[in-house]
Amino acid sequence: MSEPSIFTRILQGEIPSEIIAETDNAFAIRDIAPQAPVHLLVIPKTQEYRNVVELAAGDPALLAEVVGLANSVAAEHAGGDFRLVFNTGASAGQTVFHVHAHVLAGDLDEKSVGG
Ligand code: 5GP
Repeated sequence: MSEPSIFTRILQGEIPSEIIAETDNAFAIRDIAPQAPVHLLVIPKTQEYRNVVELAAGDPALLAEVVGLANSVAAEHAGGDFRLVFNTGASAGQTVFHVHAHVLAGDLDEKSVGG
């Protein structure tokens, strides 16, 4: 059994962070170091999957649940439109290897990836 991730420790109440929304299998918190006016994290309760590729292969229904919860929190905390980012791999900026979606919204730089 691997060490509990920082997000598992938050879920278990060991590290303080308000859980702003949850479903049976996922939960949402505010990012501690926001990179946008609204910056939330949506996280599966299990830490079994290190990144979104593993999650998509291992439990596509849970990935869909994460996306659905991202949509709900974006509707509640922003205008409804949002950017969903899964950093995948250390050189792409991933620092916590318990898969999580960044929900970014509110006055984002108009450039979008590929745009
Ligand atoms: P990554 O870099 O792995 O894609 O994203 C990890 C995110 O978790 C970072 O944006 C970082 O600010 C956030 N984070 C790290 N530790 C904590 C914490 O203790 N509480 C909260 N709310 N966010 C955290």
